[in-house]
Amino acid sequence: MKNLWNDADAEKMVADYARKGVSRDLALRVYTTRLLGGEPRLVLHGGGNTSCKTKATDLIGDEWDVLCVKGSGWDMAVIEPQGLPAVKMGALLKARSLETLADEDMVALQRSNLIDPASPNPSVETLLHAFLPHRFVDHTHSTAILAIVDQQDSKPLIETVFGDRLGYVPYIKPGFDLAKVAAEVFDADPSVEGLILDKHGIFTFGDDAKQAYDRMIHYVNVAEDYVAKNGKPQAAKAALPAKLAKPGDIAPTLRGAVAVARGEGRFDRMISDFRTSDAIVDFINSAKIADYAGRGVSTPDLSIRIKTGPMAVPAPDADKLGDYKGVVRSHVEAFVKDYTTYFETNDALDDVKRTMLDPMPRLTLVPGLGMFGHGRTLKDAKIASDVGEMWIEAVRGAEAVGNFHPLSKADLFPLEYWSLEQAKLASNKPKPLTGQVVLITGGAGAIGAATAKLFAANGAHAVIVDLDPAKAADAAKAAGNNSIGVGADITNPAEMRAAFDKAVAVYGGVDILVSNAGAAWEGRIGELDDAMLRKSFELNFFAHQSAAQNAVRIMLEQGTGGVLLFNTSKQAINPGPKFGAYGIPKAATLFLSRQYALDYGAYGIRSNAVNADRIRSGLLTDAMIASRSGARGVSEKEYMSGNLLGQEVTADDVAQAFLHQALAERTTADVTTVDGGNIAAALR
Ligand SMILES: [Zn+2]
Repeated sequence: MKNLWNDADAEKMVADYARKGVSRDLALRVYTTRLLGGEPRLVLHGGGNTSCKTKATDLIGDEWDVLCVKGSGWDMAVIEPQGLPAVKMGALLKARSLETLADEDMVALQRSNLIDPASPNPSVETLLHAFLPHRFVDHTHSTAILAIVDQQDSKPLIETVFGDRLGYVPYIKPGFDLAKVAAEVFDADPSVEGLILDKHGIFTFGDDAKQAYDRMIHYVNVAEDYVAKNGKPQAAKAALPAKLAKPGDIAPTLRGAVAVARGEGRFDRMISDFRTSDAIVDFINSAKIADYAGRGVSTPDLSIRIKTGPMAVPAPDADKLGDYKGVVRSHVEAFVKDYTTYFETNDALDDVKRTMLDPMPRLTLVPGLGMFGHGRTLKDAKIASDVGEMWIEAVRGAEAVGNFHPLSKADLFPLEYWSLEQAKLASNKPKPLTGQVVLITGGAGAIGAATAKLFAANGAHAVIVDLDPAKAADAAKAAGNNSIGVGADITNPAEMRAAFDKAVAVYGGVDILVSNAGAAWEGRIGELDDAMLRKSFELNFFAHQSAAQNAVRIMLEQGTGGVLLFNTSKQAINPGPKFGAYGIPKAATLFLSRQYALDYGAYGIRSNAVNADRIRSGLLTDAMIASRSGARGVSEKEYMSGNLLGQEVTADDVAQAFLHQALAERTTADVTTVDGGNIAAALR
């Protein structure tokens, strides 16, 4: 591992922060914290922590000795000075004389001694930092260090690799008890340059930021070199099917299998992030991969991301895809059973009241292909994949120098079900469409874009399909929530299929279709050009059918139901003069919606239509509004609000109707009218 310290960069950061009133100590603390945080082999997504002992002044001008320590929720890679809250040292040091200190009391002690009460919670490892005398303390979960400490009998190996330069601390759950023992280990030999925490990671320290950082990189390199020089060859590879299925062939099946059933046809769905590389595939093709996966996580804080460890499934045979659904489901069932047993066994050991987290795996290893990270959002799914890559690094190293033997699951349990973590999760309420994927055709148009925005605001990830890829990308950006834009001519079945394939590739599947794209052609029906009518049918009927077919194919693979929503327009039931080319295929689409409701209700797939009228859009442009209102001798405003309510109806109103239909779990074969009131077009 390369030492990235650079004097010029460090001094520039000191100078930049000095202008904002940040001390040299804190600026350098930010500098090396970012260097450590930017390397996934050291820390990932909120893991690890750093500190410095310095001085801070409170609001009345009193100066205090403080520990600036990483705040909970901050990512080291992008830390700012406010991510290193200052805690008064005096109180922290006094705590060392206590016999015991409950986690909640420790948090209260730390919070009540903050210089700025608005700070985030100081790290759970704050006391460990405080009890060490050095001004700068760094802590990581380096994968190379984990290769050495994740062994059944790691102490002799740790001594072989590091000699007496690092103190050895047995595994203890992070918190007060660990801090006390770590301080005792240091006191027993104050010449050490760091501490090795069995089954957990490494601390290094120094008088300045550079020394603590240099020591971290040095000992990581010592571990890396040892693994490289002493590693034995990898275990044999498993046999793979002659013809492997593709990731997209199995993603919806897997995504459906890890969805959490809430009963009565309701599911909490996950997003799946597929990740692969030569290194990933090389490792997970091992004949022992299921064994490794079952042993657990490489460092305890990964349990927050991937629970008790990954799930390994067999490689998918392209010629036996029909059987694969059952294979995946049986593996998920086994994982859930093991997890439930793990919870029940460990929960029964004391009187603490806990709620079992959902028992679904967060990382699935698929030999031959790669891995899927699962999470309630794309961000969480990607974090699970990131964690998976580092789990592989640590296990590969541990197996090279011995046998991967991480923290036992009994010891992991108090950490996964740590009271403070449970409180954090309980406050994290999902949105109504969290975990769901919506594909919207005509997604860059007025109604499509408004629908994408509303669905994304309600937690869905949107796949915005539009003829114009640039506009689709813009609409995705406007919608937010990691939505994507896809360019496609949806009257071309191959392009429609490709758009759905993209949804599967990025999110793992599709739960909601908003089949919205349309265009109008005018002409009296008896004199209509046949080609024009057929062209209108291609877009206003057959493209809806093609979108619905693709959506249903994926929904059936997922087995978690879904909803099809069609934009059918007022024309479907109330024809306008010279509008047959538009209204007739739309009428067919209205019945298409009902046919899907009929044929797929038994699978939990709902199908509804929205019947909108007179919305400013690509179909009813400002120029058309001017000409039509002029022809009728009314103002544009009167024309647009010529309905029973006397109010203009907007694309946002249509989006609200689609959202309602998506959320109304017992509503199918419905038509919702969004036209401000038009009795001639009212449904019977
Ligand atoms: Zn740690």
